[in-house]
Amino acid sequence: MQDSYRHKGMRRQLVRVVREKGIRDERVLAAIGKIPRHFFFENAFLEHAYEDKAFPIGSGQTISQPYTVAFQTELLELKPGDKVFEIGTGSGYQSIVLLELGAEVYTIEYQKDLYDKTSWFLPEMGYKPNFFYGDGSQGMPRFAPYDKIIVTAGAPTVPDALIDQLKVGGILVIPVGDAKTQQMLRITKTAKNRVRTETFTDFKFVPLMGEDGWGK
Ligand code: SAM
Repeated sequence: MQDSYRHKGMRRQLVRVVREKGIRDERVLAAIGKIPRHFFFENAFLEHAYEDKAFPIGSGQTISQPYTVAFQTELLELKPGDKVFEIGTGSGYQSIVLLELGAEVYTIEYQKDLYDKTSWFLPEMGYKPNFFYGDGSQGMPRFAPYDKIIVTAGAPTVPDALIDQLKVGGILVIPVGDAKTQQMLRITKTAKNRVRTETFTDFKFVPLMGEDGWGK
């Protein structure tokens, strides 16, 4: 797959759209301007790659809308070297944005075929997060604590395990709601047993599956 001047032009336009919607973090905008999103699309759908829309990636899942990726990433307030746990690898696009911002990324995917595809494809593109297959709704205690946790699927509630696995000062970004819409939450762990929760606008995600999600 090639990255042509035309694709680069379409990416610049996408960055303008995402900026106009309110994203201010220049590092996030630069990542969106750099990553060839059309690499994640079948040839027949290439024209859709630089629309600010979610798009099907198989297994009933989606590559998130660029604005949503940018919004969640901005809320994480990433610092280079932050250890980030991502729940819902999906296409891997969000993982790449995190890597571009200098994070050390641990990412888990529930669907085996997506895990297989993405854990092959991202290294082909030169990106190497730590890939895991399984249910991330209860976190991944083996590598905890994390500086940041990002959930890219809609949860019914905030899983306690994710708060437990954050460092003090760490941030969890998670959409919580019902099957139709979810409100974006930013939860900062201010002390061992204390959190501060900020609420943002509604989004629409595929459901978080698993034990502390919507079930199997
Ligand atoms: N970050 C992804 C991207 O950039 O393409 C977004 C993918 S999609 C909106 C959400 C993903 O979360 C899906 O691939 C889905 O299979 C996955 N997922 C849902 N529940 C999960 C769970 N309990 N553990 C891990 N992944 C889960």
